[in-house]
Parts: sequence; structure tokens; C-alpha cells
Amino acid sequence: MGNDELIALDRAHVWHPYGPMPGRTDPLVVESASGVRLRLAEPAEGRAELIDGMSSWWSAIHGYNHPVLNEAVRGQLDRMSHVMFGGLTHEPAVRLAARLVEITPEPLRHVFLSDSGSVSVEVAVKMCLQYWRSLGRPEKQRMLTWRGGYHGDTWQPMSVCDPQGGMHELWTGVLQRQVFVDAPPAAYEESYADLLRTEIGRHAHELAAVIVEPVVQGAGGMRFHDPEYLRVLREACDAHDVLLVFDEIATGFGRTGTLFAADQVGVSPDVMCVGKALTGGYLSMAATLCTSRVADGISQGEVPVLAHGPTFMGNPLASAVALASIDLLLSQDWQVEVKRIETGLREGLAPVAELPGVREVRVSGAIGVVQLDHPVDMAAATRAAVREGVWLRPFRDLIYTMPPYVTGDADLARICAAVGAAAAAG
Ligand SMILES: *Cc1c(COP(=O)(O)O)cnc(C)c1O
Repeated sequence: MGNDELIALDRAHVWHPYGPMPGRTDPLVVESASGVRLRLAEPAEGRAELIDGMSSWWSAIHGYNHPVLNEAVRGQLDRMSHVMFGGLTHEPAVRLAARLVEITPEPLRHVFLSDSGSVSVEVAVKMCLQYWRSLGRPEKQRMLTWRGGYHGDTWQPMSVCDPQGGMHELWTGVLQRQVFVDAPPAAYEESYADLLRTEIGRHAHELAAVIVEPVVQGAGGMRFHDPEYLRVLREACDAHDVLLVFDEIATGFGRTGTLFAADQVGVSPDVMCVGKALTGGYLSMAATLCTSRVADGISQGEVPVLAHGPTFMGNPLASAVALASIDLLLSQDWQVEVKRIETGLREGLAPVAELPGVREVRVSGAIGVVQLDHPVDMAAATRAAVREGVWLRPFRDLIYTMPPYVTGDADLARICAAVGAAAAAG
């Protein structure tokens, strides 16, 4: 199909993320992808290939078309691509669950596999509410979170996303009303820790759980905070009989420099969500892990089952490639690579801080963020990055990058230059 025809059909029929129908700008057509490069069907701004600065939204940590991951999918495809999970089981899902338990913080022990991050958050919330219901305390049914968060686009996740400035403002009044506290400051402040303690205590009687993204708040604003706050949350939750949920969908699998962000302070949640990089960006899959306390609570209740079961639960292809991706990650010195990218981003983005219109440049792990003092002109910023041969996807007042861990130093320098060009143009 020709490029023009494809774009015309796309405009006529295809909805894209966070877009109107039809979209206001034409998307670029990607023909194939390999390593850290996206190959375009037709050159844009004179570029036939773009270095991927986004890891396809945190997921493609090993880059594209990776021989090891391709082989994992192919091998599984020849055995079976899917089989229902009710009453049946299979080695890829069982091995994946066991592996996740092994690499995530103790005492997480049980794994619920689902199709996407948002669904894994739905399951996490359902687990927490049902736990308290089973214990005869159904009034504990609200969630507490801090502002500036993002947990997905289905209803429960939306209800704990930042209520302002986010994409879900429209639904105020329709969504379940959760308890919000101020967004965490970047550095540790005792007064903010006290606020967390006070609010958790004050609402404890109606709270099922606290849910947060540990260390890095992603799509809610790309903000970083001192991991010490996680310890404060853990202690306050324990003191007041409230469960703690960590949404590690963006931060999981090494992105912040530790395998999971919670590892930075050795704090364990009661429930934890992983997704995005779980399959190395190959297939859609997420998981909700919980402790035996939570699982036993649910399973000894009046309705002693967790009533959730996606059709494609535990999909064998996704499980097989997730296992391969985790093994591939852990078989290398991934910490060195993440550190190398962190250093490259710090050095490469430092000059961007001097540009007019730039409010702040911040880097944490393999994540680089430029915050402007105005909303970004998305079309102009994207075009400027493409002109530099780099794919970026800015939003709100943010131009940011989280490159695949396999990004070489020269490509990393080009990504940083493109972030600068986008900041100057946007
Ligand atoms: C992306 C994301 C989600 C939602 O995951 P989907 O797979 O897009 O549904 C939830 N929480 C966090 C922290 C995320 O970054």
C-alpha cells in the first residue's frame, strides 16, 4: 500500500492515543524497526530512519527486532500461541510467574497475569478492596495517592491519576472520589513526610490502600522524588492498617537504576504492578503481584475467589518473550548500561538548561526530562527532533527521553541534541 493511501485510510478509520478523530497531524508510517532505529516508509524532514528516544513508551528496553526475543516468540509460536487459562496452565506462564516472584521484593508471592498495565491496576485495586471486604471491613474502599500520578486509562486507574492538568479532568464527578495529597517534593522534607502520615491516619478508616508510582511519576508529569518517602508510606500504612500498592509499570526492569524502583530503599509493597518493559516491548502483558497476606485474606472471605479472568490471561507468546526479556536483561551488566545512559543524558542535556523557555532539566536513571515554562508546541517540537533524526513524543510542557538500554553513546548524543532542538523549537 502506498504511503498516501495508508495515511488516508488511517485518517478515515483509525483512532490514535489521546487524539481526536481524525487526528490533527499525520502520523509517520514505520515500515520496520531494528536495534534502536525506526525505519520510515517515506522519509520525513529528510530522514529515512529515526533513533528511538522513547523505547515505545518505556517498553522496548532491548531495542527492536532482537534475535533472542524473536527466537523466543518463534519457538513458542510453533508450540502454541494461545490457550485459555481457566482450568489449563502451561510452562511459559508458570515459569514467568515464578521468575517474577524471584526478582521482585519479598514477600510478594502470587502473580495475576493480565493484558495491559491499566488492567493490572484494576486488578490491584480490586484485590485491595476485596481483601478488606473479606475481613469484614467493606467501608475500607477508597484509595489514597499523591498528585501528579498516572496509573492508566480505564476507570479505576483514572480515578487515581492526577485530577488536574491530566488527561482525565473531564471525568471529575463521574470517577470514584479518591483521597489526594500534594505531589511529593523532589528532595526529602520532613514536613511532607508528616503530611503523608497525617492524611493516611486521618482517612485510614475508609482507606483500602495507598497507591503510588515509586521514585518516578511518569505520564502524570515526569517528576522524581526521594525514595525515602516510600519508607514513610510503608510505615504509615502498617501503623494504620492500610495496604500499599506500588505501580512499577514504568519504573520496573531497571529504568531507574535498580531492577525495581522500590529496591532503592528496600521497601516492599503489599501489591505491585508491572507491565511496559515486561515483554521487552514485544507483546501486551502486565502482572499484579501480591503477598500471601492479601491472597489469603481474599481466599478466606465470603466470596473466596478473585473474580477476574481476562480471555488472554497468561498468553503463552507474551509469557515466553517476557521470560526471554528478563533473562536477557539479567544476563548482562544492565546496571552499567543504565548508568552509562544516565551519565550521557546528564552531560548531553546540560546545555539544554541554558536555552530560553527551559524551566528545568532533570535526569534519573535512564530517563531525561526537559520541562519548559510553557506548553510545548508538539508539532514543531516533534518536527525539530525528526530533523535531527530522532523520535520523541513530547506532552504538556515536557520533552523527555527514555532510550533503549542498548543505545550507543553516539546515538545517545544525537538524542540529547534532538531534545535540545525540540526544546528550542517547541
Ligand atoms: C503506562 C502506565 C500504566 C498503564 O499501562 P497500559 O499498558 O498503557 O494500560 C499504568 N501505570 C503506569 C505507571 C504507567 O506508566
